[in-house]
Amino acid sequence: MALFDPPGSLQGERLEDGFGRRFSYLRLSLTDRCNFRCTYCLPNGFVKQQGLPSELSSEEIYRAVAAFARLGLWKLRLTGGEPTVRHDFTEITRKLSEIEGIRRIAMTTNGYRLVQRASEWREAGVDAVNVSIDTLDPKAFASLTGHDRLADVVAGVDAALEAGFDTVKVNSVLLRDLERSGWDDILRFVETRNLSWRFIEFMRTNDNTAFHEQQATPGEIVRDRLLAAGWEPQSREIGAGPAVDYAHPAYRGRIGLIAPYSPGFCESCNRLRLSSRGRLHLCLFGTEGLDLRELLQRDDQQEELIARIVAAMPGKSRGHRLNEGDSGATPHLASIGG
Ligand code: SAM
Ligand code: SF4
Repeated sequence: MALFDPPGSLQGERLEDGFGRRFSYLRLSLTDRCNFRCTYCLPNGFVKQQGLPSELSSEEIYRAVAAFARLGLWKLRLTGGEPTVRHDFTEITRKLSEIEGIRRIAMTTNGYRLVQRASEWREAGVDAVNVSIDTLDPKAFASLTGHDRLADVVAGVDAALEAGFDTVKVNSVLLRDLERSGWDDILRFVETRNLSWRFIEFMRTNDNTAFHEQQATPGEIVRDRLLAAGWEPQSREIGAGPAVDYAHPAYRGRIGLIAPYSPGFCESCNRLRLSSRGRLHLCLFGTEGLDLRELLQRDDQQEELIARIVAAMPGKSRGHRLNEGDSGATPHLASIGG
């Protein structure tokens, strides 16, 4: 079976949009809150907005995921904001891993608690972890995130490798200021570690337009540098994410590139998003999302919830419009779950 074919929905319905794309993967934002202040995301730190509904409770989250699982969705990513600022993060993970049909749980974190918690999260059911590190220069890291904690985060990556996750990846936003100076540090980092360092093209959001103008840099720069140094692109499994990974015999780790500005990026989209306040987003750069919250209040609302999700699918657009300078309704990625 191709990986993008759901293993069989319990409902008989399938999550499919108007372009024949099927959806097996939900990125679930557990919170908008974050303790870091990354310059490209929340440069002023998390600011609580008055008048917004509260974060989904753990019960609302299970009901939502159970409905998606009945529609054949089997992979989850827990993200945010910083998902691990939730005091019930471990408990939520454990319960989500028990939902029938959920076969894989990944998380994305800034890594600030990873060194202490990697084993606990692995044991609770997290299969794969992505840690965000944009630079290996401690001073640049502190200035970028607002926290002088690079050593802790790197220790967290090593703790994750020890804890036996299926995969450990580093997410690294490609910024013009960092792109040249840090290359040798990154090569040393991946030389001995069995992980994938993923560069992500810096995406424009409604709050970072000026910074994006200054700092955006095309992924081709990384690709050309890798090819010139003898790194080879690895074949991608059908249904794998949009990253292209490169390998080199002298390095244990791989270096990958996620290039959302490249043509065709959205063609194989297999993911949906649920915000921490219960809105379904069909695209990272789409509309304000569809509110599911009123249908997450009781166990006996599942059929209605499933019908609402299925009915939304034809509304998914063919692709984002980042290349036209249109970031949809997205102020920053912490608002939806990047
Ligand atoms: N707080 C967690 C973290 O930083 O890993 C999870 C949420 S964060 C929004 C998810 C990922 O999105 C991080 O790897 C972050 O670097 C990336 N990100 C945030 N804003 C971005 C942007 N404008 N363009 C590209 N990647 C971005
Ligand atoms: Fe927080 Fe992650 Fe955004 Fe950085 S990228 S401010 S760690 S949510």
